[in-house]
Amino acid sequence: MKRFLLGLCILLLLAGCSLTPSTPSAQVQFFAMDTLMSATLYGSHSEDAATLLQQEVNRLDRLWSRTREESEIFLLNSHAGDGLSLPLSPETVGLLTAAQEATTASEGAFNPLMAPLMDAWNFTGESPRIPTDAELASLLPLTQTPTVLDMTKLEGYLPLVGQALDLGGIAKGQAAQQVTTSLLAAYPDLTGGLLALGGNITTFGEKPDGTPWTVAVKDPENPEGFLCTFPLLGSCATSGGYERYFEAGGKRYHHILDPDSGYPADSGLLSVTVVAEPTLTDAYSTALFVLGADQALNFWKTHPAAAAMELILVAEDRHIYVTQGLADGFDFLGEESGYTYEFVSR
Ligand code: AMP
Ligand code: MG
Repeated sequence: MKRFLLGLCILLLLAGCSLTPSTPSAQVQFFAMDTLMSATLYGSHSEDAATLLQQEVNRLDRLWSRTREESEIFLLNSHAGDGLSLPLSPETVGLLTAAQEATTASEGAFNPLMAPLMDAWNFTGESPRIPTDAELASLLPLTQTPTVLDMTKLEGYLPLVGQALDLGGIAKGQAAQQVTTSLLAAYPDLTGGLLALGGNITTFGEKPDGTPWTVAVKDPENPEGFLCTFPLLGSCATSGGYERYFEAGGKRYHHILDPDSGYPADSGLLSVTVVAEPTLTDAYSTALFVLGADQALNFWKTHPAAAAMELILVAEDRHIYVTQGLADGFDFLGEESGYTYEFVSR
């Protein structure tokens, strides 16, 4: 069984970062939340801001990791089913609340309780494996009873023995949101910046050369290639089966699971990019990847949670659906690789 761990940065900053000589800047790159993080910040105190950014991401990783024993999520998981209500920070309550909202809005396609199934597949371990149908069927009920949260007391617990939270589908987006807010509060003289927390990209302010921040969507079938670029002032995130997977018997098994079956989602999509505020981009890129193109576009057209959202859906038949709000400045690069695209309106 061969295992691949492909680049986790889904979107690449394409536009130049040429500086005017007078603009102070800082760059930082580090590993956290099981992926590569990087940022470029401009303005006075950008070095201090970059240090704060790294500290903040690492602090949230210590709070939300499910493998670090000091984390609040590890504590919740290790007490699952014993009836003990555990103290939680407001940040963790905020994250769990956002996760539950995404679960409700996506009718269960986003499920923060997939940890027992993720462990059964062991995507991140040395020897990933294909669980039996019976094993998956025995684990699925653990994902259907939500975390109990007491918002006023800041406490919570998992009701069933064997339940466990895996916030890998939302934590980086929530981190992007919180860290950007903290940076701008602490260093209001930052003039601009780009944060890439795994596949979650956030830009703010201006680039020193005055050109717009521009991001590119990778070709899911060719890690070297790009399908399109578009200007981004705000946040986007991409989810795709190509990010993390293993192959067995000539078949690919990727890390985004369908909560209905426990198997890797097989909805006809290769990747989903969501443009919105960071927590939403992360949770909904995962959820809409599970739902597939028809349901994702229906969600975008009708659901209030999608009111300020734009999508790029890359389908297995090499057709790309781009929602209308991204048409301005959209540059298609996928023609030579056999892709087609269309703009979709509400
Ligand atoms: P992302 O790269 O943001 O799409 O997140 C994928 C990660 O979210 C996986 O590696 C799992 O940790 C977790 N995950 C897998 N399937 C789901 C799901 N259906 N809902 C929520 N989280 C999931
Ligand atoms: Mg996600």
